[in-house]
Amino acid sequence: MINPAELELLQKALSRLAEGFEALPEFTPDFDADAVAGVLDTVATRMQDNYPYYHPQYAGQMLKPPHAVARIAYAMSLWVNPNNHALDGGKASSALETECIVELGRMYGWDRPLGHLTGGGTMANLEALWVAGRLHPGKKIIASRQAHYTHSRISEVLGLPFSPVAVDEQGRMDLADIESLLEGGDVGTIVATIGNTGLGAVDRLPEILELASKYGARVHADAAYGGYFGLAGELHEATRRTYDNLVNVDSIVVDPHKHGLQPYGCGCVLFRDPAVGRFYKHDSPFTYFSSAELHLGEISLECSRPGAAAVALWATQQLFPLEKGGQLSLWLDDCLLAARDFWAALDASTAYQPLMQPELDIVCYALNADTASASAAHARKVFEEAAKRELHLAMIELPASLVAKYVDGLEQDQETVTCLRSVLMKPEHHEWVPRIMAILEAAAAA
Ligand SMILES: *Cc1c(COP(=O)(O)O)cnc(C)c1O
Repeated sequence: MINPAELELLQKALSRLAEGFEALPEFTPDFDADAVAGVLDTVATRMQDNYPYYHPQYAGQMLKPPHAVARIAYAMSLWVNPNNHALDGGKASSALETECIVELGRMYGWDRPLGHLTGGGTMANLEALWVAGRLHPGKKIIASRQAHYTHSRISEVLGLPFSPVAVDEQGRMDLADIESLLEGGDVGTIVATIGNTGLGAVDRLPEILELASKYGARVHADAAYGGYFGLAGELHEATRRTYDNLVNVDSIVVDPHKHGLQPYGCGCVLFRDPAVGRFYKHDSPFTYFSSAELHLGEISLECSRPGAAAVALWATQQLFPLEKGGQLSLWLDDCLLAARDFWAALDASTAYQPLMQPELDIVCYALNADTASASAAHARKVFEEAAKRELHLAMIELPASLVAKYVDGLEQDQETVTCLRSVLMKPEHHEWVPRIMAILEAAAAA
């Protein structure tokens, strides 16, 4: 689990950091090492009570271990503990954040977006919809029924009306339903989910953008989970067209802490038109006296933020630039291929029935049964049996009508069906598919 090289590298990085402060009189904060040791032993023991997120046999929720470079850079920066709220609190890390934003913008074909890092996708989406609401006051936000639940909740926080959009058999927003909502004349913003969290389905941007321009709506892309897949080489053609159209949306949210190899606490919001910065304007009597130019604290709703997140992301982007054909893109390809192989293996099995073919790296699968209730009960049993065999899955509750499109002759004796869900977001998952499948077969037979 722990590579000793990591700790050596952290020590080296800390020595280099300390060199920057040698002009000061010697001062090293003291602490009671014995007391700390005792409590650390206890807390490390408590932390054993976790699923093995780092391991390929964790094939459940959307959890991906941070890369070593991110972890080390983050840890190193804790000895400074910069605050990216304002330049006073995080000089170097604010500069690093600005450089990260330029690179993330370029990934979407944007030259000078306004943007910054956030605590996560929720805060990032909140800002995007807040700006959307300022531009279309009182108008509706619409998003997929399979969109992250955060959108309806954020709309509530912002006091904006919200309507869900029906999804098709693939889990994407139904275009006819979008149009009928737009015909109502009160829609301000369409949220397109670029990889929804449940199914991994990608809403179709070319058509959505066309509808939006016909009816004068704004388009926000929630790519919190899927935002990096535009770098991949293995996308299907229609999915590729959507990624190539991200350049034309009004705002984008991407979570480096999902597929960007970062520890939690790293989301990002980007606006194509930097002029939306005017909405953030405020006067703080105490924060900004030392810095003249517009900076991160002036274009962000959150105040204190960990500069460490920017340090880690910058280090990661140095090592793995956001380039097509680069290492990061090859890893994303492994995830795409893992999901496709897994889908095919499930399709070949008699116990399981995979649902829609994966567009990104999420696979949802049902247990074959005559009724929705029997299928759901078996799925819950398999979840437990697999865990006993150290294979950790996730469950998802889906409409029985959707599952019945895939499971032949399924009697819908209840509204929803518990299905299994695996996010294969570690590149190593690709070679682990046969092992995962073998455990699944044993679990289904148990
Ligand atoms: C994860 C996710 C969110 C929420 O982001 P957090 O980082 O968990 O706050 C929003 N939308 C989508 C599509 C997501 O996958």
